[in-house]
Amino acid sequence: MRACSKENGVPDGYFRTWVERYQVTEDRDHPTEDRDHPTVESPDGAINGFPPSTREDVKSFFVPKLCNHCADSPCTQVCPVGATFISPDGVVLIDPDYCLGCRYCIQACPYGCRYFQPEKEVADKCTLCYHRITKGLTTACCESCPTGARQLVDLKNPKDPVHKFLRNNKVQVLKPQMATQPKVFYNHLDGAVR
Ligand code: SF4
Repeated sequence: MRACSKENGVPDGYFRTWVERYQVTEDRDHPTEDRDHPTVESPDGAINGFPPSTREDVKSFFVPKLCNHCADSPCTQVCPVGATFISPDGVVLIDPDYCLGCRYCIQACPYGCRYFQPEKEVADKCTLCYHRITKGLTTACCESCPTGARQLVDLKNPKDPVHKFLRNNKVQVLKPQMATQPKVFYNHLDGAVR
């Protein structure tokens, strides 16, 4: 997140990428009968009427989030002036000179990936470090990830080693039911992530 903010001049309090903590809990007094599908607690508190004190952790984990650069992106479809568009190489971008600041795209994104840039009064989000990748560099987030968990892939190049990884592993996308054709892929995504 810090590398992204520094690279892209993201204002304080806003994020183009972030990491969400998921906590899967179970009611101690009324354990679910199906342990494969326990109740999922959102990061901010109790659910199903049970306060946190009566629940115990089953598991917790982190999921990084960012714009999915969807091939069928609702955000570009609702923009009344074409200020947000898909580049020839498949990256979803915003032209701030054309953006009206209407925020339709922020509402349309099912992943919560856009925010309103208060200083410039335009919509903003991850550009996949377009200024870097078009020079052959990787993104700031991929470069700064200490374990290599984030990897940039050229989806049009079958010889890209990450492309091979995608073919050989059962990777998943977020909210596949939205049919937005996201291009951020997760390996071993927990079934509790919806
Ligand atoms: Fe648009 Fe949201 Fe998809 Fe990014 S994740 S392309 S902002 S709909």
